Amino acid sequence: MLFRWNQKRERKMSCILSVLMVVIMLLSGCAGGGTSGKNESTDGTENATNVSGTEASIDAVGGTVAEETTEEATEAVREYIVCLDAGHGGLRGAISPLDGRYESHDTLRLTLAIQRELEKYDHVTVIMTRTEDVHVENKQRPQMANDAGADLFVSIHRNSNTTGDKGGVEGWIDKNNPPESREVGEMILAAMEAVGVTANAGIKTGSWDEPDVNYTVIEYAKMPAVLLEVGYLNYAEDNRLFDENLDAYAKATAKAIFTWLTQKK
Ligand SMILES: [Zn+2]
Repeated sequence: MLFRWNQKRERKMSCILSVLMVVIMLLSGCAGGGTSGKNESTDGTENATNVSGTEASIDAVGGTVAEETTEEATEAVREYIVCLDAGHGGLRGAISPLDGRYESHDTLRLTLAIQRELEKYDHVTVIMTRTEDVHVENKQRPQMANDAGADLFVSIHRNSNTTGDKGGVEGWIDKNNPPESREVGEMILAAMEAVGVTANAGIKTGSWDEPDVNYTVIEYAKMPAVLLEVGYLNYAEDNRLFDENLDAYAKATAKAIFTWLTQKK
């Protein structure tokens, strides 16, 4: 009984299964045929595009994420090196006919003040070409910046002319007008102007008597570099402003330098 029932059941089941299989085959056959038949080439192309496109997107996303992560990590630990150069030294440079002050003394006072202010910022190392009243060769000054792998070279000077009829600050950069040097120079001059100057003559290229010849300290610097003339030694108002605003000029210059460093890519 049990056996017969099983046999019957088996037959019944295999019958049902056969019908099911036929139905499944028909269904899958129709569907498969439909897809592959009609859209094979299109699907193939689209798939290739989609797949590679998707991979490309993933790669791009992965790349961007990786780059950003690296960039963030780099930014977090980015150390900046700034080389400050107090022009002249050892009694070289101009002497004011008004009060007998030396350019080399003024440049050292201001440069030391900028160093003090700049060192208040995190992740900034300041290299000084001199911290005393000593002579340093002009070629040697940018060489110190190059050796340190500095991000910026700033040379501080004071101006003078034969007429003594004008004052103001100005900056000098490489004769080829590198945009980064111009940018940082203009930022520093604008910061000094905000403190108070008799005039802002802006950033100039080359040197005052020869536009095609660089000042030596600019010529040999391998990084953005600017030479600043902070007022005229033979213009009384500039000397007064220099003494009165020394700390404010230093603060403003340090802030401009730091802003430029952290903005640049
Ligand atoms: Zn000078």
